[in-house]
Amino acid sequence: MAVATSQKHAVTNPSTLEHVGEIELSSVGDVARKVVRANEAFAAWRATPFAERAAILRKTAESLRTFADEIAATLTREQGKPVKEAKIEVERTADTFDLYAADDMGALVDAIELPGKTARVVRRPLGACAAIVPWNFPLTLMANKLVPALATGNTVVVKPAPTTPLAAQRCIELLYEAGLPEGVVEIVIGGADVGAALIEHPLIRKVSFTGSTATGKAIMALAAKGLKRLTLELGGNDAMIVCEDADVVGAARAAAVGRFFNAGQACIATKRIYVHRSKYDEFVERVSERAAKLPIGDGFDPNVRMGPLHSQPQRESVEGFVRDALAHGAKAAAGGKRPDKGNGYFFEPTVLVDVPDDARLIREECFGPVLPVMAFDSIDEAFARANATVFGLGSSIWTQDAALQERAVRELDAGYTWINDIATDYDRLPFGGVKESGFGKERGTEVLGEYLELKSVVAGGAGHS
Ligand code: NAD
Repeated sequence: MAVATSQKHAVTNPSTLEHVGEIELSSVGDVARKVVRANEAFAAWRATPFAERAAILRKTAESLRTFADEIAATLTREQGKPVKEAKIEVERTADTFDLYAADDMGALVDAIELPGKTARVVRRPLGACAAIVPWNFPLTLMANKLVPALATGNTVVVKPAPTTPLAAQRCIELLYEAGLPEGVVEIVIGGADVGAALIEHPLIRKVSFTGSTATGKAIMALAAKGLKRLTLELGGNDAMIVCEDADVVGAARAAAVGRFFNAGQACIATKRIYVHRSKYDEFVERVSERAAKLPIGDGFDPNVRMGPLHSQPQRESVEGFVRDALAHGAKAAAGGKRPDKGNGYFFEPTVLVDVPDDARLIREECFGPVLPVMAFDSIDEAFARANATVFGLGSSIWTQDAALQERAVRELDAGYTWINDIATDYDRLPFGGVKESGFGKERGTEVLGEYLELKSVVAGGAGHS
């Protein structure tokens, strides 16, 4: 469905419901024009020496750090997260710009010995790529796609979530101020219709998407029509196993950080906890105490550690999960309702116990600050329940037993396993899920391969390559 060019969209602060900006939604025609521009810019950009491309990325990193306070404030206003965390997001984005300015992966050539021939494998950029980004980490999740694509000589059309376009727009402005040639990065604004028009455009060669599993499936179907390359970073329902010999204090802290960071709106949030029955009561008490004490409120209040949910539908969705769990027999050990906090989309950090396996909270992804804690009796049972999900993004285990730690590495079906540690991702490690959490990698050097295709070259006889 076409969107009129003049249609405006108001960006709202989820803490105060104030309007913080107005943006023009892209029409399907705008999308096509921007894809054509990105495609036209490709030939010159891929021919630009890596050192020049890298210099633009480094300069952008510098500007992001210079304007970190301003951009973090924008992020807090449009997304809701505490400003301290918004600043960390800006800094991590700057780090990503620096990281991929370091090595020219596109120049890598593998020489292969073939009898009587000269053979090699070279790497080529793909062309105009689409980057489709959600609202929970609008900057880092954009940078994870945009920067490796640019470093390897591709051009990019970015589509931020319509509710969080402002910090992303500012970041792209800084790229241009750093000397990016016209057309190398374009931005389109809108929802599913704009995203679909972008994916379906015949000049788009690759789609990188972060978002829900349901949308990921729709995107895969759209991309299949043009056999586009895909990276899908989708939902998760990460389990933590807390064993009989675990450091319960550390595990409870990791669970609280893992579930309540970003108001629980993180793909790698810790979403289900299985605790050995001998440690269950102590764990529940400690994690509930942390939940009850967490200061929530407007992200600009320096004492606040958890902001609101991002939107009205988002809060209603979380409330639906809690209602369903309680109806299935679960009990609230902490939170469970809206706090008395102005008119923003706040929800209390919540711990639910005795949640049965058939509750939606266990089967589906709940994108909010609700932590279900369940007891287990045998470690086999804990592993089976941890893996009993369609998702496979992250996982963690708390135990001193080296054999159990290794078993978790081997047997937990996920793209990440944390051992006695908080679930957080690292720039230098490949990130991505298995099963319905998607495929392809972001971060690490592995992401660069997602934006390069391999060409085998063979020269026969006296030919030289
Ligand atoms: P979403 O799937 O609703 O939207 C994500 C993006 O896709 C937005 O820009 C949206 O406008 C666009 N979109 C929606 N429908 C589309 C369509 N049919 N065609 C093209 N584009 C379309 O996700 P969300 O609610 O914004 O984000 C939350 C989800 O993202 C959660 O499921 C979370 O787990 C997931 N997530 C995954 C990762 C990861 O790396 N695996 C990271 C963060 C978030």
